[in-house]
Amino acid sequence: MTANSRCSAAEPPGLETQRREIECLLRECELRAGDSWYVVDRRWFEQWREFAETGDQNSSSFPGQIDNTELFEDLDSYRLKERLVENEDFVLVPAEAWHKLLAWYGMVDGQPPLERKVVDLPSTLKVEVYPVEIFLCLHSNMDNVITDQFSRTDNIHAIQTAMCRAFSVPPGSECRLWMKSSDSSCERLRNVHISVLDACLSSGMTVIMEMRNSDGTWPSSRPQIMRNSVEEQDSYRGQPGVCGLTNLGNTCFMNSALQCLSNTPPLTEYFLQNSYLDELNFTNPLGMKGEIAEAYADVIKQMWSGRHYSVVPRVFKTKVGHFASQFLGYQQHDSQELLSFLLDGLHEDLNRVKNKEYIELRDADGRPDQEVAGEAWRNHRRRNDSVIVDKFHGLFKSTLVCPECHKVSVTFDPFCYLSVPLPVSKERVMEVFFVFLDPHAKPVQHRVVVPKAGKVSDLCAALSDMTSVAPTQMVVADVFNHRFYKIYNADESLSCILDRDDIFVYELAQGPQEEQVLLALYLRERSHYRDYGSGSSSYGTSLFGHPLLLNVPQSSCSREELYSLFLQRLARYVRTPDPSEELEEEVEEEEDDEEELYKSQTNGISDDEQERAEAAGPSHTPNCGGSSSNSQSDGTAAPDSQPDGNQTPASAEREDAETSNGSGIPADPGPSDPGPSGGNEASSAEEGMNACADQSAAGCTEAAPEQPCVTTEEENTESKQEGACSPSPPPNENPAKRRACRQRRKKNLFTIQAVNSNGTTERGTGDGGSAVSFSSQPYVAIDWDPDMKKRFYNENEAEKYVKHSSMEVPQQQATVQLQECIELFTTVETLEEENPWYCPVCKKHQLATKKLDLWSLPEVLIIHLKRFSYTKFTREKLDSIVDFPLRDLDFSDFLLRKSLSSEEPPSRYDLIAVSNHYGGLRDGHYTSYAKNKDNAQWYYFDDSKVTYASEDQIMTNAAYVLFYHRQDKIRKPALPSPLTNSASSTHSTNNVASSTDEGEVLGASSSYITMETD
Ligand SMILES: [Zn+2]
Repeated sequence: MTANSRCSAAEPPGLETQRREIECLLRECELRAGDSWYVVDRRWFEQWREFAETGDQNSSSFPGQIDNTELFEDLDSYRLKERLVENEDFVLVPAEAWHKLLAWYGMVDGQPPLERKVVDLPSTLKVEVYPVEIFLCLHSNMDNVITDQFSRTDNIHAIQTAMCRAFSVPPGSECRLWMKSSDSSCERLRNVHISVLDACLSSGMTVIMEMRNSDGTWPSSRPQIMRNSVEEQDSYRGQPGVCGLTNLGNTCFMNSALQCLSNTPPLTEYFLQNSYLDELNFTNPLGMKGEIAEAYADVIKQMWSGRHYSVVPRVFKTKVGHFASQFLGYQQHDSQELLSFLLDGLHEDLNRVKNKEYIELRDADGRPDQEVAGEAWRNHRRRNDSVIVDKFHGLFKSTLVCPECHKVSVTFDPFCYLSVPLPVSKERVMEVFFVFLDPHAKPVQHRVVVPKAGKVSDLCAALSDMTSVAPTQMVVADVFNHRFYKIYNADESLSCILDRDDIFVYELAQGPQEEQVLLALYLRERSHYRDYGSGSSSYGTSLFGHPLLLNVPQSSCSREELYSLFLQRLARYVRTPDPSEELEEEVEEEEDDEEELYKSQTNGISDDEQERAEAAGPSHTPNCGGSSSNSQSDGTAAPDSQPDGNQTPASAEREDAETSNGSGIPADPGPSDPGPSGGNEASSAEEGMNACADQSAAGCTEAAPEQPCVTTEEENTESKQEGACSPSPPPNENPAKRRACRQRRKKNLFTIQAVNSNGTTERGTGDGGSAVSFSSQPYVAIDWDPDMKKRFYNENEAEKYVKHSSMEVPQQQATVQLQECIELFTTVETLEEENPWYCPVCKKHQLATKKLDLWSLPEVLIIHLKRFSYTKFTREKLDSIVDFPLRDLDFSDFLLRKSLSSEEPPSRYDLIAVSNHYGGLRDGHYTSYAKNKDNAQWYYFDDSKVTYASEDQIMTNAAYVLFYHRQDKIRKPALPSPLTNSASSTHSTNNVASSTDEGEVLGASSSYITMETD
């Protein structure tokens, strides 16, 4: 053997020559990445060196064949011993030196040459004596482990290739790798283009490979996707792409956008054909390290596997939320915003440009459009090159003109969707209730057309045409929760009024304006709550019914006048008691106060608040008596059943009262004054007085709410406990004072209370006078006891209204042409003050005019209809129908660049998908229509539900984002259209995949390994 080896070696040169050649090579050879060096046992090499320096061919120092035996663990595997040290255990010689030595001396039979590569490690070049030794196995069979060695400079793809070869993986399989270290944690080897070193793979670690399932899922995540049996899922073979997306909680916006993109043929084919694998960009700082693209690919592959009724896009949602925190959580979002984010994220994740160069943008400076546009597009492509740019990006021209120096600035900018405005109607339809002055007329609901930018007076003018009531006699109010949310001035803008507001317009009585008080009238019902212990009466109130606005002469604001007025005003649904009804109330009068009667009431906020009756007492007197019979009524007051009728006697009586008490305060009728307004009450009041005999004059004023007095919020410490008769203030009543009595008094239907705009009573705003003071708030409430309300207030009647004929006319749904929207997009506009343009000539910001023009259009054209309109003053959703063509949308008229040659693609587009939004500004639901690329059938995607759709269903006022595909790129459907005649047939919506797949976990055989959680 030895002889043979020696014979095969070339005849070596003289020893001196050998020594010189080798030493020279060792001295001069530099480490160069990728070069091969060889490991040689140091003792053999020293032996050779001694031999070459001193000996001759027959010397005892002859080294013999190169022998690395001492370097090996054993002579079976020829694995290198661990922790060998250079220049102690071995020397490294460059390839040329090795080959010379090998030629001169040969090698011990069977030993492999120890060739090692020079690797370029961070900051150092070195010969990689020890490559990385890795265990390899398939996810499907983790017991079959093989060992292989890789250089630290090998990329992960080399491992994948080696594994595919070693495990005979069918070509074309989509694989992904995980690395598992000794602590059992697993991590995806996402980027197959990075090196073993950069992936932190080291000796002793295991690389596991899995192949994508035929249903688009991965074995490692499948156990959680599968809810039931594998068989159930595997049995489904639907049309690829016809697949729902499970709603994860307000994620219909995402599902809608995904369905539109999924049915965009060039993008879906790009993913289905695995083209994305070669283009994943893991290093782009603007991207998501490939994760969005991968997550998107996973969703698409599952949707197009034909194996699922519905897919759970949970991992995708998590990734989106991870990179765009606005999409975290489960609020409703805008499908267009998501689409915009997704197109951008996919683009950067798939950007073929790894290092973006800085490019200074040049202004057009009068150069021809063709040149500037070409330059802009080339510059864009130098930094942005991806399937998204290929398919979705177009170019528009933006022209700014300075209003001062007329500098014209032209730039060309890329876009990946067009956001086109909808023509905003200058008019607006409002629905309002008109409340006539005539108390017996029911409110009428009108539909009026007003200028959108109009004022409240325009609304009144429009109503005037229908009602023949002068606009000046109207007041407009927003009613909310039985109170006036806002009372508008005639010159206020109509934009303050939202469509959902309940607007009431009240006809006012004519009269000299300056002498009128505009009184807001609320209806309140008392709670039964009484606090007898606190020495004050108190009750809570709640508002009910419709408030009213009415003009009241300032001169007639006494309680009784108001009582009478209100009773009259409410006549349609407040019944006036007839004389036979008992309306008296027995009241025990304990003590008289020296002052006017006080009444404590609560406003519903502070129940124990006491109030002082600012008006007088006498009128209220009546209620001394319990509600016994009114048989004692003297009938002086005519018990008119009609409010109108009541008024006269009441006022007459009031005047009497004034006279009698001499106070001159109109509102303070003398004790003899029968109840305010109400004839009945007047009579019963008198009756009550009669019952009280002497004390009639004293009129037991009862703190009870029945009094028609307007109380102020002034706190009155002297207020009486409810039920006590407070003395009536009038001077003539002295005798009554301080006497306890039982009286029968007339009971009023309600009492009147000054309140604030909320309908609650406030302290300190009233005055002590007997008249209602409207200094700051012309709001009063009439307070009802529940039983009185039940008896005299006709709730049913109160709610009645009639519809004006204007309501019968069906509202015309505004329809606009898509072309109009595109024209608007290209209309010259003046920049807004918040967003001026810096004029390089004037050297300052200017409100330039701006015009956009379309220059070139992409293969897939996304048109976003700007239905959500936000301006400084208004936020609204425009629900006009946009008439968009399903076929042959021709853009040639909108393109600034006229077709220069026949080679240019035509500008005709067919619709392929629509994202729909139903509902209003804040809420709503998203769905989509989309056309399957394989069978050309339209489908309606509503989260996990998919149904057939027909073309005539697609154009609705919900259409929000439109997807068009250029005709020259549309391929004929590979399959015939499925049952086109049964448009209502519904696919099963069995949510096979409804269980979670949050964590990707290896299969059941090794479920203890958590591979990755999101
Ligand atoms: Zn300028």
